[in-house]
Amino acid sequence: DVILSVRNLTADVDGTPILKGLNLEIKAGEIHAIMGPNGSGKSTFSKVLAGHPAYTVTGGEVIYKGQNLLELEPEERSRSGVFLAFQYPLEIPGVSNLDFLRVSFNSKRQHEGLEELDAFDFDDLVRERLDVVKMDPAFLDRSVNEGFSGGEKKRNEILQMALLEPTLAILDETDSGLDIDALKIVANGVNQLAKPENATLMITHYQRLLDYIVPDFVHVMAEGKILTTGGKELAQELEAKGYDWVKAEDVAEV
Ligand code: ADP
Ligand code: MG
Ligand code: MG
Repeated sequence: DVILSVRNLTADVDGTPILKGLNLEIKAGEIHAIMGPNGSGKSTFSKVLAGHPAYTVTGGEVIYKGQNLLELEPEERSRSGVFLAFQYPLEIPGVSNLDFLRVSFNSKRQHEGLEELDAFDFDDLVRERLDVVKMDPAFLDRSVNEGFSGGEKKRNEILQMALLEPTLAILDETDSGLDIDALKIVANGVNQLAKPENATLMITHYQRLLDYIVPDFVHVMAEGKILTTGGKELAQELEAKGYDWVKAEDVAEV
């Protein structure tokens, strides 16, 4: 089952081309990692998938579960199971984390034709899911991400993911700013949530995260496209040799 198929995708920011012909296919049950140097367009790709308005798709296609993802509004994408954990999670002062989670959760339920959970049932569910990321229930009563440390924000994103149970989870630099204990908790959460019927796309600059979440495929991105694809051993090779080696090899192939 193909979950995501990206063909020859090109995208601009303010008229500057950033994605320059990106190809990727993700099937159910797979964990993919995109690695690459800073500025190669990794975050741009994840934001294009989420439907961020600052990015303009100029060509190519993105098919998600048989439908044209690019035609869907950002909210529709998330309700139909595309989840993006941001590199820099947003703070929403004045909105409690619990309310925020319940609204997102019920919005997805509604989309699936299911009844909304009332506040009490949702409370039970969220408390059970807190365990996935070993999060203190006190975080539920605070404003969304406000004053959370980097690690707490990332854990909160995984909690959101544990509730929404996305079909395609996209994690952009979920490892950045995490100490080793937080990294293990986040990785363990992601591993628990990976199922045969869903897929995970991890975007990371470093190989470290991939010691804990083992990908089926590793893609190397540079200058707006995927240059090469391999198995999990490619991540180790990159760590040892750096990214220039892939670029040089790519040039040699041409
Ligand atoms: P990566 O995540 O691989 O580090 P990004 O996708 O963040 O790369 O950035 C790719 C390029 O696009 C960079 O040159 C960056 O400055 C540019 N870029 C990304 N988003 C914006 C934006 N909103 N406005 C202007 N330039 C942007
Ligand atoms: Mg970056
Ligand atoms: Mg980035």
